[in-house]
Amino acid sequence: MRTRIEVAPDSLFGPDNLPYGVFAPQRGPYRVGVRLGEAVIDLAVALDDPIFAAPSLNPFLAQGPARWREVRERVRQLADTEIPDEAVHSLAEVDLRLPIEVGDYVDFYASIDHATNLGRLFRPDAEPLLPNWRHLPVGYHGRAGTVVVSGTDIVRPRGQRRTDSGAPDFGPSKRLDIEAELGFVVGVGSDLAHPIEIDDFAEHVFGVALVNDWSARDIQAWEYQPLGPFLGKSFATSLSAWITPMAALESARIALPAQDPEPLPYLRAADPWGLDVALTVHWDGAAVSYPPYSRMYWSPAQMLAHLTANGAATRTGDLYASGTISGPDPDQRGSFIELSWGGSEPIHVNGQKRTFLEDGDEIVITASSPGRPDVRRIGLGEVRGRVWPARD
Ligand code: MN
Repeated sequence: MRTRIEVAPDSLFGPDNLPYGVFAPQRGPYRVGVRLGEAVIDLAVALDDPIFAAPSLNPFLAQGPARWREVRERVRQLADTEIPDEAVHSLAEVDLRLPIEVGDYVDFYASIDHATNLGRLFRPDAEPLLPNWRHLPVGYHGRAGTVVVSGTDIVRPRGQRRTDSGAPDFGPSKRLDIEAELGFVVGVGSDLAHPIEIDDFAEHVFGVALVNDWSARDIQAWEYQPLGPFLGKSFATSLSAWITPMAALESARIALPAQDPEPLPYLRAADPWGLDVALTVHWDGAAVSYPPYSRMYWSPAQMLAHLTANGAATRTGDLYASGTISGPDPDQRGSFIELSWGGSEPIHVNGQKRTFLEDGDEIVITASSPGRPDVRRIGLGEVRGRVWPARD
């Protein structure tokens, strides 16, 4: 028996999207699938190719961009035809796991509005942007082993927090926060001492995912100088279950905001581009913020060129995230420390005044490319997580 997958005309997951994930059908092993509408296509069955029978996208990603294009074309053809029943599953009935084996994880700080807001909050008596900010995409190496798939529960972290006396105590974070970000997945890595040239981005980067970089602001504020984020960030980073191929976002490419001063030559692309992707942050079901990726100062290609500029190698499955996405307006801020201005200006969530996360709160971040009249909108799925009490 064969089935044609019906897709609603207004679906954000039509044949122009086709994101990849790793799923398990009922009583089946994890394998690679592509989402079409509310269905998942089992690629190992539909394409009769065992590389997709793996519980991770990594073997496919390592095959490189010519193969990514070939498979995308074949899946687009499948979307237009009847597919064997055994290759089609209902999205509602499958289990989703982390789609990639994460290699190294880097988090950037590429939003000028976010960096300016945090500079004002953390260093109120100084220039909000440090002197390096407009010259390089600031970033740090995060903890790949604690990247978790959307839906994973987040246990409130414990750590050192400064008290009014100036000395620290130890306990559950009182200022647990989110960071709404996009993450870029490296498919083909690069060798030691061989930086990735800015115009070679497409040879290396496979796709985009949604990221929530959970952050304990009290732990972070006490520990971060002089070496940067550490335990305030490393307890969990949530990743969406679906990776949207860069090819699906061709129609979302837009000009970058102006960069002044002009960056050094290794950060100058022949044809610079940003992405018109609009995010929404939902707090216990209420939409509280609309971060615009279109405002990001540093481009995905600049971030990759910079993170390898010293000769650092990259591998299949490496993940680098943009940093919190914030815009200039109050309802475009991608973290609660910004939305509540350090906790001093509570925001209204379902009729309650809120600042940081409480136990039981659930955060869902969604995104889509707005699209144009001739192009369907592309959904980036969601990244979801609920806060659980600190363990005794
Ligand atoms: Mn971050």
